[in-house]
Amino acid sequence: MNIDSRVSGKTKLVGLIGNPVEHTVSPLLHNTISSKLGIDMIYVPMKVEKDGLMDAVSGLKALNFTGFNVTVPYKNEVMKFIDDISKDALLMGAVNTVKIMNGRLYGYNTDGEGFSRSFKEESGTTLKDKKVVMLGAGGAARAIAVKLALEGAKKITVINRTVSKAEEICQLVNNNLHPVAEHYGWDDVEADVSLEESDVIINTTSSGMFPDVNGYPYPKPINFSARQIVYDVIYNPSKTRFLEEAERCGCTVINGLGMLFYQGIYAYEIWTEVKLGEELLKDIFSQFRCITEST
Ligand code: NDP
Repeated sequence: MNIDSRVSGKTKLVGLIGNPVEHTVSPLLHNTISSKLGIDMIYVPMKVEKDGLMDAVSGLKALNFTGFNVTVPYKNEVMKFIDDISKDALLMGAVNTVKIMNGRLYGYNTDGEGFSRSFKEESGTTLKDKKVVMLGAGGAARAIAVKLALEGAKKITVINRTVSKAEEICQLVNNNLHPVAEHYGWDDVEADVSLEESDVIINTTSSGMFPDVNGYPYPKPINFSARQIVYDVIYNPSKTRFLEEAERCGCTVINGLGMLFYQGIYAYEIWTEVKLGEELLKDIFSQFRCITEST
C-alpha cells in the first residue's frame, strides 16, 4: 500500500469559492505549480450557496486559510467582507483573489492583469496607443476596460446588447482614469465604423461559450481585416465561431486560456510571495493547455 503524504498538519490551505465550481480547472493549475515548486500548499474548490457567503468567508479566516479565489456569482458581493481592497479591484468593482494575513483580509482583482499579460505574450505587442473595441459590458469587460485605460489604450469603444451597461463602464473609465472611452448599442452605425477602424477587438460576452457554440457576440458578421488582433475571453471551445471567422480573415487570434492562466499565476504569487520564472511559466502553460483541452 502506498502512503499518500501530500497533506499534513503543516500544509497551507487555499481554494476557490463560487457556485458552480464543479468544472473549474484552477485546482489543476495551482496544485501542479505547488508540486513543481515543492511548496506545501493545497487548493480546493468549495461550492458556496447563496446565503452562505458571509459564513464561508469567516470560516476560511477561522480555519487559517492563506487565501482564496472568488468566482461567479460572488466577485462583487464578497467585497463587503474584505478589510483592504486594492485600487484596481475597487475600480473593477470585483475581487477575485483574497489573501489572509494576521486575521485581515486583503482583496485583489487579477483578471485585468491576467488579460494584459496574456495579450502581450500572445500578440507580441502592447496595449499602448491601440484603438480597442470591446463587445460586452459585464464583469470581465469592466476589469479589462480598466486595465486597457491603465495601460494607455488610445480609444476604448464598448458595444453591448444592453447599452446602459456599456455606458456605465465608459463613465467609470472616463471619470476615474482617462477620457478615452465611448459606448454604442447594436443599432448604432458608429459601432460598425469603430469595429472597422480598431486595432484590437475583444469579445468579453459569454456568447459562443460551450454549449452555445454557435453563439456570436454581435448581431451581424464583423468585417475583420488581417491587421487586427482579435481576442476572445472564452476558452471553451478553444476556438469560438468569432475567433474562427477572424482567423479566416487573416487576423491574429487569441483565446481566453492565457487570461485564465495568468490571473491564476498572479493569485499564486500574491499568496506565496514567490515570483515564478519565465521558463517555468512557459512549461506550466503548455501543460495547462494540454490538460484543459483534454478535460
Ligand atoms: P457577465 O454575466 O457579467 O456579462 C455577460 C456579458 O455577455 C454581458 O455584456 C451580456 O450582455 C453579454 N451577453 C450574454 N449573452 C449574450 C448574447 N447571446 N449576445 C450578446 N451578448 C451577450 O459575465 P462575465 O463578464 O463574468 O463573463 C463573460 C465571459 O467571460 C464568460 O464566458 C466567462 O466565462 C468569460 N471569462 C473568462 C475569463 C478568463 O480568465 N478567460 C475571466 C472571466 C470571465 P447584456 O449586458 O446585454 O446581458
